[in-house]
Amino acid sequence: MKPIRTVLWRWLDVKIEDVKVFVVNPIAAEKFEGIGHLYRRGGINYVVVKVLTDEGVYGIGEGTLHASELAVSATINHLKELLIGKDPRNIEDIWNFLHRATYWRGGPIFKTAIAAIDMALWDIKGKLANMPVYQLLGGACRKGVLVYRHADGREPKEVAENVRKWLEQGYKVVRAQMGGYGGSGKLRHEPAEREGLPATTYFEPTRYLLEVPKLFEYLRSELGMEVELLHDVHEQLSPIEAAQLAKRLEPYRLFFLEDPVSPEHKEALAFIRSQTTTPLAIGEIFCDREQVLPLFVNRWIDYIRIAPMHVGGITEAKKIMVLAEPFGVKSAFHGAADLGPISQAAAIHVQMSIPNCGVQEWTDFRSIQVFCDLFPTPCEVRDGCAYPNEAPGLGIDFNDALAERFPYSPVYMPQIRRADGTVHGY
Ligand code: MG
Repeated sequence: MKPIRTVLWRWLDVKIEDVKVFVVNPIAAEKFEGIGHLYRRGGINYVVVKVLTDEGVYGIGEGTLHASELAVSATINHLKELLIGKDPRNIEDIWNFLHRATYWRGGPIFKTAIAAIDMALWDIKGKLANMPVYQLLGGACRKGVLVYRHADGREPKEVAENVRKWLEQGYKVVRAQMGGYGGSGKLRHEPAEREGLPATTYFEPTRYLLEVPKLFEYLRSELGMEVELLHDVHEQLSPIEAAQLAKRLEPYRLFFLEDPVSPEHKEALAFIRSQTTTPLAIGEIFCDREQVLPLFVNRWIDYIRIAPMHVGGITEAKKIMVLAEPFGVKSAFHGAADLGPISQAAAIHVQMSIPNCGVQEWTDFRSIQVFCDLFPTPCEVRDGCAYPNEAPGLGIDFNDALAERFPYSPVYMPQIRRADGTVHGY
């Protein structure tokens, strides 16, 4: 990159010269067993965008949509021609242009593609201004962003031990599961029909509904009432079942109950809320502001789980959080392992700059060497909070010289069916 001539940028012409898209699967290539055994499910294909300008400054962004990565990368490649020659500083105009130019506006594919470009444009703007992105978004509202980690186990004692491990490392908020999503409701697993296809898990909610309150009763007896604990239903329950669970969990003071129902049942959150004071969080597969607005205005939730990468980027995530603010809804941005280090950095910059920041779901890419090599350098966590890198822009880079070492490999989502064979959501 050329040296940054901050003072001159105001008068300079700067144009987008090229947009490059990379799809990298470091987990599959390295046969990396960490982050939730994802290697055995095919790893994760991270979609990375590099927007180059005629002044030598470039920006990076991410558009990973797990198991639909090639749809996003093809969309970005298609939109590329519309971007070349544009002034990368006009982020708001480019966002609206791309959103309208697609005509079939919205939806996860377009919103993730636009998000990748949007992140790269904010990275460029930060480099031009010689400031970290959160400064351009209004500056720091806090020292760092509170994060939560995942603990799991086969029985309550093991879950408690794993929660303790995070607490000992300084984390303040921990998600507790027992046996993954759906937990003890899983009846059996059926291997895939062919290699490369996903296995099928059979699920019924009864045992899950009975075991989760027992888990939290045990965790509270072992860890006390002050530790911040949450639980992810991952949309496995019907509205009436979710209401039963939220009510039974009330004595154990959850930080929040995550995704109690699927987005199709979002209106049922009104009923669940009428039955319980357990705080509710939803939204990790919501991608349009029109989907989230009713959650705010009807006061159905306490935390919104969007990710900047899946709603159109930094520009749109900031706007959604402004919409949430008057309704007292805080952020709890999605941050599973399939949201890579660039989108993680974008999420931290947004949450540094908003008054209604709650908590960020956390994957510690910085502790994994291959991620540090590919994405120098992932955000850091200290004492349970994530901090943005203070370098201009997003503060993270992409080592495209390494991309060929980590080629795309197909990934499918896990398959869930009910006991009688009916299709159920993951
Ligand atoms: Mg979740």
